[in-house]
Amino acid sequence: MNSYYTSNRQPLPETAFAFLPLGSVKPSGWLRKQLLIQAHSLTGNLPKFYDWLGPNSGWLGGDGESWEGGPYYMDGLVPLAYLLEDKELLAEVEKWLGWMISSQDETGRFGPKPLTDWWPYGITLKVLTQYQEATGDPRVIPLMERFLAYMRRELPASHLQSWAVYRWADTVLGIIWLYNRNGDPTLLELARELMHQGYNWSRHFLDFAYTQKQGLAYPHPTHVVNNAMAVKTPAVAYELTLWEEHKQAAWKCMEMLDKYHGTAAGVFTGDEHYAGKDPVQGTELCSVVEYMFSLENLMQVFGDPAFGDRLEKITYNALPATFSADMWTHQYDQQANQVLCTVDKRAWTNNGDDSNIFGLEPNYRCCTYNMHQGWPKFAANLWMATDDDGLAAVAYGPCSVNAKVRGGKEITIDVDTNYPFEETIRMTVRTSSPAQFPIRLRIPAWANGATIAVNGEPAILSQPKDVEPGTFATVERVWNDGDAIVLTFPMAIEVERRFHDSVTVKRGPLVYSLKIGERWEKLGGEEPHANYAVYPTTPWNYGLAIDPENPQAKVVIKDVGDVVYGPDTSPIEIKVKGRRIPEWTMVSNSAGPLPQSPVQSSEPLEELTLIPYGCAKLRITEFPLLSE
Ligand SMILES: [Zn+2]
Repeated sequence: MNSYYTSNRQPLPETAFAFLPLGSVKPSGWLRKQLLIQAHSLTGNLPKFYDWLGPNSGWLGGDGESWEGGPYYMDGLVPLAYLLEDKELLAEVEKWLGWMISSQDETGRFGPKPLTDWWPYGITLKVLTQYQEATGDPRVIPLMERFLAYMRRELPASHLQSWAVYRWADTVLGIIWLYNRNGDPTLLELARELMHQGYNWSRHFLDFAYTQKQGLAYPHPTHVVNNAMAVKTPAVAYELTLWEEHKQAAWKCMEMLDKYHGTAAGVFTGDEHYAGKDPVQGTELCSVVEYMFSLENLMQVFGDPAFGDRLEKITYNALPATFSADMWTHQYDQQANQVLCTVDKRAWTNNGDDSNIFGLEPNYRCCTYNMHQGWPKFAANLWMATDDDGLAAVAYGPCSVNAKVRGGKEITIDVDTNYPFEETIRMTVRTSSPAQFPIRLRIPAWANGATIAVNGEPAILSQPKDVEPGTFATVERVWNDGDAIVLTFPMAIEVERRFHDSVTVKRGPLVYSLKIGERWEKLGGEEPHANYAVYPTTPWNYGLAIDPENPQAKVVIKDVGDVVYGPDTSPIEIKVKGRRIPEWTMVSNSAGPLPQSPVQSSEPLEELTLIPYGCAKLRITEFPLLSE
């Protein structure tokens, strides 16, 4: 158990790591610039022009939006504001949190008067816990205690309904957070009652029955966002029960989602229900950010480095892919093979025709509310605290962590890198006097030949003995001010076989897609948050000439600029060879049925440019493999 950061109390099990309080990790370098792009676009501006989050919001005391919108927005606003320490965003936080906290009545209930659904309260608890960690505001814990006592009184007569049945784990996360601070055993009774009224996601994944694209009926258990949220639910159920079944399910859920609905970018299809593995099926933005949050929780509970690998894959690929580079517009559904974004019929399970355009609220406005949590929570959770009073780097990006380590000493580690666009991560320890503590460094499973150097010498590991991909390497020593750690993660080009034996090119945490010329056409709305269709201006129907077992390609490293995730600002390119496949054409406004590989083509061999999936707003990611 960590001596300085709140860990599970008995009878809850010990977790692998403890979360650091919001604000302990601050983004730097390109990651900070990415958060600034978010702050200067929708997160910082929605309340100024978007009625659903405007002054009339029910979550600000008005008679407007009174359901999940306000809480979703706050769930991303709060971490973004405290990570950037931005005055305007902090004032926005005070406005929303101030009203929410002051709205509690004598029964313990808070929030908009018309709200009768338990589900949005699960989000408000996530908001309140982050806010309390960042500010220490003394009103938060008593508010949560009074509210959860109210919930415990009401729940026997007012059961979970609809979304709340499937999303109960989010409320339980808030309950566990509070229990670990006040030790009130009635909180665990409430948590178990919620679990019993809620859906059993562990059985859902252990006996997985949804192996096909869904048609006709669209029940909650196949809903894409419910599933992305559910990825953490077995871990939460395990914390409450210590049942081995729940622990197994924590890995089984990702295995099942990958096997039957997985995409090249590490997420799964759902448009907005399970849609199978065809790369023209869609993945909703809400499910991207919820999957990330689930992985951050899985990492904290179980500490499997594979969760960090997946978290980086989703964050560095699927998340930026579904936004314009300026983050003013987003899609509802992204496709791995996405060659046209227009208001037209596509083979979605049940989403609307505008689901893949870039706009303010395509298809439905949930993503406009919920998108904000993705980047800031990722940045906030790059480091966690270990049970032996050290620190663990669970994911990588430029940042600075300030935290207490063994002996109560406060230290800082600066992480300087352009990762995932470079293979080297440089860390510098800052301490006022020598300090002995362990640093755990996640070695990605793909990083064959990874090395760790401390002050220019190969690091001596406490465990395992050697630097092994897919493990945490522990370096424990007396750290002096200025000690330098250099991680090198060689990024070999890899080919993954996918739908219809197609090929996807990967390198390190990044997935690569064909760079397609893009023509953005305004459909309506007001700049800069207007709606846009995107048309291809260059061909996309290529097969790749590449040896999947021994892929060779030229890697072109460029500068990392102020805007990373745009098609023309890509910091890295991969050059491969391919030929057009004339019979592979557009069908139903998407790339037509993916030809079964291998495929023959007598078209000329061309050099093709691949860019990171997240940079390419039009893309082919799963390519037919040429037979040559
Ligand atoms: Zn959504």
